[in-house]
Amino acid sequence: MMRLPWFGFRSPASVGEAARILAAEGPQAMLIAGGTDLLPNMKRRHQTPATLVSISRIETLKKVGNGSGAVLGAGLTLSEVVASPAVRENYAGLWQAAAQVATVHLRNMGTLGGNLCLDTRCNYYNQNYEWRKAIDFCLKKDGEICWVATASKRCVATSSTDCAPALISLGASVRLVSVQSEREVALADLYKNDGIDYLARRPDEILTEVKLPSPAGWKSSYWKLRRRGAFDFPVLGVAAAVKTARDGTVEEARIALGAVSSRPFLTKGGELLIGRKLGDDAIAEAGAKVASAAKPMDNTDLDLYWRKGVVAEFVGYALREIRGDDMSETRTRITRHAL
Ligand SMILES: Cc1cc2nc3c(=O)[nH]c(=O)nc-3n(C[C@H](O)[C@H](O)[C@H](O)COP(=O)(O)OP(=O)(O)OC[C@H]3O[C@@H](n4cnc5c(N)ncnc54)[C@H](O)[C@@H]3O)c2cc1C
Ligand code: SF4
Repeated sequence: MMRLPWFGFRSPASVGEAARILAAEGPQAMLIAGGTDLLPNMKRRHQTPATLVSISRIETLKKVGNGSGAVLGAGLTLSEVVASPAVRENYAGLWQAAAQVATVHLRNMGTLGGNLCLDTRCNYYNQNYEWRKAIDFCLKKDGEICWVATASKRCVATSSTDCAPALISLGASVRLVSVQSEREVALADLYKNDGIDYLARRPDEILTEVKLPSPAGWKSSYWKLRRRGAFDFPVLGVAAAVKTARDGTVEEARIALGAVSSRPFLTKGGELLIGRKLGDDAIAEAGAKVASAAKPMDNTDLDLYWRKGVVAEFVGYALREIRGDDMSETRTRITRHAL
């Protein structure tokens, strides 16, 4: 049985108090929300914080706000996000992503903020301490070599969050609060293509909320590839959001990829749709362009060449769903998950 290491525990009731604790304790303290990523990691000795600062008592982090767009508190559980009629109706891509994270139990505990700050994953890293010791560890934790790309000085562990690509395609931004500062950053800019230093967030910063722009004219969709439909991390995530005029001509389009790099990112390809209707030719061209940006590594489930090979197909599923095609049968067949 894997046991947790010893740690101190604080449970502040406000963002200000949590920020003061983080500032006083320094990088040895870590935030914990649902703990569904952090606690297994601590058991495997990936992270061994001296103090955990829980945000679960902070009510302001659980708010849902509506204006011209939406504001979602980082402390909302994924089940709460999925249960929100406004999310389902206005931001379908986010709803589909959140609904496919892990299992019901994990979504009941796991939060939106925790999902966006999820540690990167790798077959050589997500193992217990003894397993990792037997291979002399690796760059990401305790070692000196990357077993996936042995000549690489950089860890290429994979970003495996489902909600991030969906939210990036929707044009979301996040608020980061610390004792020193309060800033809003585009979600796409929160991520760095580095498996170790994967977030542009300082250790003393708390992600407090996610802001979504107005959904007027937009439709979105998220498609996830994984081995088991019941639960599994994504080994490919394709998120698309498209704004069309009344006659169906595309005015704006954003396509984001997850699980094919150390960060979720906006790809080229969406621009090929602008000024056109979502016809099969336009969709195929966009799919091919997006696929050329996907560079999966051999460090997750399923063959990497096959994962790259299906990117264009997945872009096609997302765009055809946005076009209004009934994709329910395809979704159940391909992703083994009815939504
Ligand atoms: C079996 C299993 C399957 C899973 N499958 C999936 C999956 O399919 N897709 C997926 O995306 N995830 C999956 N997960 C990961 C996880 O359950 C979810 O990503 C969940 O949303 C994480 O949220 P949390 O609140 O539990 O995060 P925590 O574990 O509490 O925290 C995760 C990280 O985020 C930081 N953090 C948390 N909240 C904040 C905040 N407000 N501000 C700044 N930093 C913060 C923590 O310090 C920590 O580094 C799976 C986990 C397990 C165990
Ligand atoms: S990509 Fe390389 S350095 Fe990063 S976790 Fe995997 S083996 Fe370790």
